[in-house]
Order: sequence, then structure tokens, then C-alpha cells
Amino acid sequence: MTEFDLIRTYFSRLGAYRADVLVGIGDDCALLKVPKDARVAVSIDTLVAGVHFLPDCDPESIGHKALAVGLSDLAAMGAQPAWATLALTLPRMDADWLRAFAAGFSALARRHGVALVGGDTTRGPLTISVQVHGLITGGYGLRRCGAFPGNLIFVSGTLGDAGLALRRLQAGEAIPERVRQCLERPRPRVALGMALTGLATAAIDLSDGLAADLGHLLQASGVAADVHLGDLPLAPEVAQEVAATGDWSLPLSFGDDYELCFTLSPRRLSNLKTLAKKLDCPLRAIGRITHGAGLRCHKPEGTRWEVRQPGFDHFSDNSGEETT
Ligand code: ADP
Ligand code: MG
Repeated sequence: MTEFDLIRTYFSRLGAYRADVLVGIGDDCALLKVPKDARVAVSIDTLVAGVHFLPDCDPESIGHKALAVGLSDLAAMGAQPAWATLALTLPRMDADWLRAFAAGFSALARRHGVALVGGDTTRGPLTISVQVHGLITGGYGLRRCGAFPGNLIFVSGTLGDAGLALRRLQAGEAIPERVRQCLERPRPRVALGMALTGLATAAIDLSDGLAADLGHLLQASGVAADVHLGDLPLAPEVAQEVAATGDWSLPLSFGDDYELCFTLSPRRLSNLKTLAKKLDCPLRAIGRITHGAGLRCHKPEGTRWEVRQPGFDHFSDNSGEETT
């Protein structure tokens, strides 16, 4: 099979059909029709085997996650997903692997109305880069920089599940299927992000861990925050682990949650409650924005939790120890 057969077989017409794809895969560039008055939100993420996923992770999950992490960025910006491109570096031609990878990517793409419109295919150590493009109509969508003293801080879903899955898998232990899905098949909060536009004052998606990502939001907004760790939304398995170890780094610093963290004026609380019910999306208030700088985490017993490693950083000293 040649490179071009491979592209035609596995990647042409992947994902949703979209009438705004004037030229898709097969020419030198894709040609996309952008609606009048819309802005295009663009983000790219790379997954490297052994760094972002365990080498024995099933290829359908890798296909899913490669797109999911980008859709999570679009969600954090309040953008409607539209198009994606895929740069794939493969150690060898493996039909079964490619079929499963494409199936995982395509199923998630269809669910969010995303068309795969181009890419690049090369040989080398397994590496996957996905660029996503979303549309924002009116305004700048949701940004990191609008949080204001007095705002409430919310997170969606639960925190630390993916971290727990990784910790257990690396120790060779069995994990419940639900927890594995959190690590391998994260569900980007696209509908929530779009609905929060014009309601939340600032937002970010949680890819590196709450402490690091909320830290970015605080810095961008020029504010500080108090977070009450007893209010963090934790699944029973994670709550148990925290209680057993007394260590809050699992929900704060492991990352890979792909939930949204956002800030809200308390005057808009009833709007948020209506929205949460309509979307059937669990939301939890975890703290408050204040004047100043930095994140203060308060343990349930009243003392402070000092965050040492806020989140995963590829170029800091922790980069050799964790796989996330
Ligand atoms: P060029 O050399 O002009 O960049 P390529 O030979 O790399 O073109 O690719 C041919 C066509 O196939 C292009 O339209 C490109 O976008 C598409 N393509 C290549 N690899 C992929 C991939 N992994 N997924 C989707 N489209 C791809
Ligand atoms: Mg090329």
C-alpha cells in the first residue's frame, strides 16, 4: 500500500459531511467556507506514544483522544467545532491499527459535526497531531482573562479520574471500566462551552490539572482565588484515594480531566442552574475569585494545601516521571 492508498483508504471522508468544505482531502490545501461574521478558533495538540498515552493503549481510544483534546480547547473558547486536520507519524503500515484509529477519530468527529479536511502522513515514532477549527459567531467567545473579584469558580464533571486510572495502570493494577474511559475516552464539554458564552466571565479547559490551569486563568485575569478542596467534585474512587493518602495532588495536579473550569458573577447563578439542568451537566462551585495573585487551596480541616507541582510540564523536572 502506498502513502496515497493509505490516505484514501483510511482518511478520506472521515467524520461528518459538511457543505462548507469546498475542497477536502486530495488537493494541496483544503478550502473552507467561513460564514459571514464568524471568527475561526484554531488549536493544535500533539500526542506522543509513551508520553501522552501508554504504548499498549487501544488504537480506537487513541483516535478518540487525539481529537477529544482539541475539541476540549474549542469548548473552553465557546466555539462550535467544524473542521480538523491530522498529521500522523507511523512507525509502520499496520492496517488493523489504522482502521481502529480512524474509527475512534471518526465516531467522535461525527458526534460533534467535524469533518477531517486534510493532513500529513509520515514514517517515524508514533506521533499524532490534530488541529481543530471551530466557529464563533459574535464576540470573542470565552476567554481566560475576564474573571473578577467576587466571581464564583465552577468546574464541570469530576476531577482526578484520569489521574487515578494512569496511576493504577502504571502500577499494573486493574481499574473499573468507568475510570479507564475517563483516561482513554474523555468527553469534551462542547455544548457546555458554547452555552457559557456570554454567561461565564472566563473559562479554561482542564488538561494539565486544576491547579495549573486555574492558575493560568488567574494570571490572565490578574486576580487570586480561594478554592475549598472539600468542595471539589470527586468520584468515590478518587475521594477514597485522597482520604487514604491525604494527598490532594490527584484531583489538583495530574491533569487529563478535560473538564471546564469557569468563573461566574453570583448574579447569574439562576441562569447557570437552568443551563445545567437543560444540558444535564454536573457543575460544582469550588471557590471564589479575590483581589491579588495566586491560588490558595484550603483543606476541609481548615489548613492550607501547598501545591508543589501545579501540573504536568514537559520541560520541568517532573517531565520524566509522569506519563500524561
Ligand atoms: P502535499 O505533499 O501536497 O502536502 P500530501 O501528499 O501530504 O500533500 O497529502 C495529499 C492529500 O492528502 C492532502 O490533501 C492532504 O491534506 C491529505 N492527507 C495526507 N495525510 C493525511 C491524513 N493523515 N489525514 C487526512 N488527510 C491527509
Ligand atoms: Mg504533505
